[in-house]
Amino acid sequence: MAFSSIGSVSDQTLGGVISTAAHGTGLNYGCFSSMILDLVLIDGLGKRHFCSNLANKNLFDAARCSLGALGVITEVTIQCEPSFNLHATQVPESLQNILVNLPAILNSAEHVRFWWFPHTDKAVLWKANRTPQKIEPLKESFFTDKVFGFHYYQLQLYFARFFPNRIPRITEQHYEARFKKTLDWVDKSYKVFNFDCLFPQYVNEWAIPIENTARALMLLRKWINSQQDLESGARVHFPVEVRFVEEDDVWLSPCYKRTVCYIGVIMYRPYHLPVPYKKYWKVYEDIMRSLDGRPHWAKAHQMYYSDLLESYPKFGEFSEIRRICDPNGIFVNDYLKRHIVPSEESSEYSMPLPQPPRL
Ligand SMILES: Cc1cc2nc3c(=O)[nH]c(=O)nc-3n(C[C@H](O)[C@H](O)[C@H](O)COP(=O)(O)OP(=O)(O)OC[C@H]3O[C@@H](n4cnc5c(N)ncnc54)[C@H](O)[C@@H]3O)c2cc1C
Repeated sequence: MAFSSIGSVSDQTLGGVISTAAHGTGLNYGCFSSMILDLVLIDGLGKRHFCSNLANKNLFDAARCSLGALGVITEVTIQCEPSFNLHATQVPESLQNILVNLPAILNSAEHVRFWWFPHTDKAVLWKANRTPQKIEPLKESFFTDKVFGFHYYQLQLYFARFFPNRIPRITEQHYEARFKKTLDWVDKSYKVFNFDCLFPQYVNEWAIPIENTARALMLLRKWINSQQDLESGARVHFPVEVRFVEEDDVWLSPCYKRTVCYIGVIMYRPYHLPVPYKKYWKVYEDIMRSLDGRPHWAKAHQMYYSDLLESYPKFGEFSEIRRICDPNGIFVNDYLKRHIVPSEESSEYSMPLPQPPRL
C-alpha cells in the first residue's frame, strides 16, 4: 500500500504528519489529515474516544489536525491505495511562463510543483503521474549532485554569510549546472515524492487560496528584486517551493474549505550557522497574510490566537473542544501557549497542576 500524496521527506511519525496537516502536492490530493477515515484519541482525562465521519463527527473534524492539543492519537485508519510507480519529469521553465499558464499546467498532471530561483526569473517545473511503466530511476551524478550540489553549495553559502551579494550569482551557477537539464524517470511513489532537503535550514510556508498564487509570487519577486538593487539589501536562497493541495473539511487544516497554493521559503544554515532571515520572513508573511494566508503548523510563523480565530471559521469550536478534552491543560506546551491557547488561559497553566489526593 502507499499514501496517495506525501511531502519531501518520509522520516516523520504518522502522529506528526496528521496533527500538523502535512502535505505533498496535487490539485486533487489533500493533506495527511484529510486521509484519515477514523481515529482513537486519549484525552487529557485519560478517556478514550473513537471518532469518524459517522461517530463523534465534531471531535473527528477537530482532532484530525490538532497539534496534540486535544490528546494523544493512538490509532488511525488511513485511506491508502495500492502501491504505485510515478513517472516524473522535471523541466527548466521561466517563472513568468509558469504563472501565465498556471491553470493548464496544474491540470496537466496528477502532481505538480515548481521551484523558483529567486533573484532570477528561472524555475523548474516538476510533474508526476501514476504509471504501469517499470522503474527507471533518476541517475544521480556524484560530482554534480553530491560534491557540487551539496558540499560546494554549503561552502559557498558559508562564505556568503560574509559576502551576501554573491548569493544571486551562486543561484545562477547552480541553476546552470544542475537544473537546466530536462529529467525524466520512473520510480516508486515515495522515492519520486521525496527529495534531498540538503542541510539545516530556516523554513516558512503558508497556504493561500489558489487563485492568489501569481499575485503572491509577483509581490515576492518585486520585493526581492528591489532588495537586489540595494548594496545592503536582503539576498535570499533558492528555492522558493510552490505546491498545491486540495481543499478539505478538517477544522484547523490550512486547506479548510479552499484549494490552496503552498509557497515555501528557505534560508539554509551552512554548517548549522545562523544566517539573516527575519527581514525576508516579515515581508513574506505580510504578503501571505494580505492574501488570506494560513501558516503551515509545523513551520515557524507569527499567527496568534486572535489571528487564527479570524482566519479559521471553526477555531472557536476547536477551542471549546480543547477545553473539554484537556481541562487541566496537561497537553499545553510552549507552542500551544504561543499560538493556540488565549493568553489569559495559558497563564493558568504556568502554575503547578493540583496534585491528585494521596490514597
Ligand atoms: C526536512 C524536512 C522536510 C519537510 N517536508 C515537509 C513537506 O514536504 N510537507 C509538509 O507538510 N511538511 C514537511 N515537513 C514538516 C513535517 O512534516 C512536520 O514537522 C511533522 O509534523 C513532523 O513530524 P514528527 O513526527 O517529527 O512530529 P513532531 O514534531 O513530533 O510533532 C508535530 C506535532 O504533532 C503532534 N503529535 C505528534 N504525534 C501525535 C500523536 N500521536 N497524537 C497527537 N498529536 C501528535 C505533536 O504534539 C506536535 O504538535 C518537513 C520537515 C522537515 C524537517
